[in-house]
Parts: sequence; structure tokens; C-alpha cells
Amino acid sequence: MIVTAPPTRTAVVIGASFAGLLAAAAAARGGYQVTLLERDRLPTVAEPRPGVPQGTQAHILLHRGLLAIESLLPGIERDLLDAGGVPFNTGQMPSLGDYGWMPQNDLAYDIISISRPLLEHLVRQRVLALDQVTIREEVKVAGVSREGRHWQLHDHDRLVARTDVLIDASGRSSRLPHWLAELGLTAPEAAVVDSRLGYAGRRYRGTVPIHTGAVVFATATEQTGALVLPIENGDWLVCAAGYGEHRPDRENEEFETFLDAVRDPVVADIARRLEPQGDVAIHRQTANRRIPYGSSRDWPAGLFVVGDAMCAFNPVYGQGITVAASQAQLLRPALARFDGSARTTRRIQRRLAAVTNLPWAVSTSEDTRIVDPNRRRTPVELATGWWTGRMVALAAGGDTASIRAFARVYHLMGTPLLMFSPAVVRSIVGSLGRPLPPPGPRPEVLAELTPAALRQAQGAQGAVQRAPAFGRTPSTR
Ligand SMILES: Cc1cc2nc3c(=O)[nH]c(=O)nc-3n(C[C@H](O)[C@H](O)[C@H](O)COP(=O)(O)OP(=O)(O)OC[C@H]3O[C@@H](n4cnc5c(N)ncnc54)[C@H](O)[C@@H]3O)c2cc1C
Repeated sequence: MIVTAPPTRTAVVIGASFAGLLAAAAAARGGYQVTLLERDRLPTVAEPRPGVPQGTQAHILLHRGLLAIESLLPGIERDLLDAGGVPFNTGQMPSLGDYGWMPQNDLAYDIISISRPLLEHLVRQRVLALDQVTIREEVKVAGVSREGRHWQLHDHDRLVARTDVLIDASGRSSRLPHWLAELGLTAPEAAVVDSRLGYAGRRYRGTVPIHTGAVVFATATEQTGALVLPIENGDWLVCAAGYGEHRPDRENEEFETFLDAVRDPVVADIARRLEPQGDVAIHRQTANRRIPYGSSRDWPAGLFVVGDAMCAFNPVYGQGITVAASQAQLLRPALARFDGSARTTRRIQRRLAAVTNLPWAVSTSEDTRIVDPNRRRTPVELATGWWTGRMVALAAGGDTASIRAFARVYHLMGTPLLMFSPAVVRSIVGSLGRPLPPPGPRPEVLAELTPAALRQAQGAQGAVQRAPAFGRTPSTR
């Protein structure tokens, strides 16, 4: 008897950044022959590329994202460490928020800090090593059409691919709403919350007496913040951020002034000890934007949307890659069982959208609070705002249950219901009628970073080894 193998199902993914690569891994593991179409020529080494203009900016991969990528691409965590990624527990990272310094603790989660181009390079190597995945570079998809139950993709007049399943992972610049309209289908309206956050980033090299990153969050009253992260090769990524008219500029000199003016100088102090490795790069496309794909009755069979193409976040919360990875985790079994129907497609797409619920709530509620503190709020918003504020204030005051809950929500390790766990409820109820505990002190390690400490260290060595990188008059701090 001759046994014929069932025809292999095919998937085409538009875009070979994180959402596309991870969706391709998921589809391949779900039994599909996958083709990635990418408009860029991809670098053979880890370096920024035009298709992802945010590539030079600091990126954090949350713990949930690390777990999700490891589950899709076993061994990637080892790759990141072998390539020089810097592991640390985010609870140990000096962090100044609305309520003061968080006490340093081991109750949060580990991350591996690495530059975005290197992370993408390592993930790409793992994905392209999968037998069922091929990539076609320098193919810019300009339109899609349907032929029976198949999708066809066009680069203007040229047919570039034909497939059973089409996954759009083309990021914020996705043209899908336009393509759906061309097909006579409903193009759902995007929800947008834009806090007009601007990023400026610069790479540095050198050593400082601290092994984690450090962050000063912008707040409703202080609309600028700064972040520094250690990455591979002894390099550091320094990021300045500000809302609206407080957005940082691309001038190297202004970057320095900006960092100095942030309400705590920790990031300026660290940068001052390092050597810049290039110019400042800015990025201002940071609006939260979510499109409710899959909600219309005419959503077509075999079409899925993931990553920033479906939901992009204000990047300050570091959620985008983790959301893309969590969506890929969901896609893997869903595609393996996929029956090809429009009904199942819609159901899967709605589940992909549900992955964005928690991070969307985190980033849009925070952004609204910061940019529009006087907005009239519903009673539910007022109550949850009060509860969250109280929990974060207690966390800053050292309450263990609140620190744990805050870390779990921040790393997307659970649902917002964690903020209402019995331990948190006990802490909040117990704090009523009492003054809030004072926040943690400024972490001691930061005293070693001030210009005064720098001068002292240099004096002890008997010679000033080099002028401060920023060439300005050192303050008397
Ligand atoms: C300043 C900044 C900082 C950020 N920091 C963090 C962070 O700390 N942590 C975090 O998790 N996330 C962060 N993000 C978000 C993160 O960059 C994205 O969520 C992540 O890259 C996943 O995006 P994506 O793959 O959906 O889209 P993208 O990364 O934008 O990639 C889209 C891909 O599709 C390709 N493409 C586009 N159109 C076409 C076409 N027509 N045909 C073929 N190919 C096409 C592009 O070339 C690109 O390769 C940050 C974003 C910004 C802007």
C-alpha cells in the first residue's frame, strides 16, 4: 500500500523582527513550512538596520519574555549569556519612581541585558536554523489578495508568495488596514493613547562600580527620566526620555545637559565615567496604538496579526518583545490544531489580542496619569488608581507583598488580579489610617558614582587619568 503524506501547510510571515521571527518559530513547530519576507537586507553581524529604527535604543527583555523565547527556542538563554549579555535581578537595580527609591531586593526577576541588535541577531540565528523556515530578504510586500482559500502576496505587480496562513508582523508601519479596505473587508479602527514620549540614546564604553542598570522614571510632575543598562562587550546604553515639550534632542551636548537636569543625577554620574561610542540617536514614535483585529464578522480565514502591527506600546514599560513572544507561544498549539476556518481564525486572533490586555492597561493608565493628571476619572478608575498608588508606595516603603506583586505585574508574570492577592490586601488594609512608610534610601552604591567620589578615586591614584567624558564643570555633589 502506498501511503501519501498529507500536504504540508504553508505560512508566510511579513517582517523578520522579533514578532515575525518568533511567529515563524511557532508556525514551524506547529507543523508548517514557513517563509519570512523581510524588506531589509539583513546584516550578518549584530548591528542596527533601517527597518527597525528603534534598534539603537535601550531595550529590556522582561522575565516573562525571556521564558517565552526560551520555550520556543530552547538554548537561547545560554546564547545570550555566551554572547556577553549581562544578567541581574531587576530588584537590585537602583530605581527611582513616583514614591522615591525602591528598596533593593531579590524579590523581583532576572533579566539578561543585551543590545537589541545582538538579541535580534541571536534569535534570528536560532529561527533560521529550523529546517522548516526560510527567509527572503529585500522583499517589500505591497499588497495582498485572495485566491480561493489561499493568500497571495505582491510586491507591486509581482506575485511574491502564495500561502495557506498569512501572519502580519510588519510592525508599526503595517499596511494591513489599507489592504483589508482594498479587499472590501472591515478595517477596524485603532485606539491610540499618545503621551508624546521622546527617547534619546547613546552607547558608551567603560567600567563603573555598579553591576546592574539604573533608572529614574519620569512622573506627572517631573516629565523627564533616564535609564542606563550594561550590555555586551563592557558597553552601556544610556537613554534619556521626556514627555511632550520635555522630549530630548539629538544634539550630543544637549544630551549631557538633559541627563544632568533629571531629578536624580545617577545616570549622568554613570555616563560621566564612560566614553561615548557614537552620536545620540532619537526616537519619537512611541504612541500606544491597538487595533482590534479579529473583532469584525468578516475577518478572513487564515489571517493573523502579531506584535507592534497589532498593538504597539509606549516603550518605556519595556513590553513589546515580551508581548510578541507570548503571542508566539499561543500561536504554536493554535496553528498546529488550526482547521482553516474563518471562525477559528477569528477566535485565535481574539486570543492574540487578549495577550495585550495587561500590558495595554499598564501603559495606557500610566501614560494618561502622567500627561493628563487633571482628567475626570470614572469611580472605577479612581479606585484602581488609588489602590495601585498605595501598593507602589508600600513597595517603596519595603512591604514585601507589595514588592512581589509590583514585580510580577511589571514583568507580565501574571494578571492584574495579583494586585488584589490576600497578602497585598492585608498590607493595604493594615496601612489605612497610618502615614505611608518612608521610601528606601538612595542606594549606597550610587554615592560611589558622584563627581566628588570620582575626583577622590582619581586623587587616590595620584593622577587624573582622563577628563570627564562630558567636559563640563564638575558639580560639587
Ligand atoms: C524607542 C523604543 C524602545 C523600545 N524598548 C523596548 C524595550 O525595552 N523592551 C521591549 O520589549 N520592547 C521595546 N520596544 C518595542 C520593540 O522594539 C518592538 O515591540 C519589537 O521590535 C517587536 O516589534 P515587531 O517585530 O512587531 O515590529 P518591528 O520590530 O518594528 O519590525 C517590523 C519588521 O517588519 C519589516 N517590514 C515592515 N514592513 C514590511 C513590508 N511591507 N514587507 C516586508 N517587511 C516589512 C521591517 O523591516 C521590520 O523588520 C521599544 C520600541 C521603541 C520604539
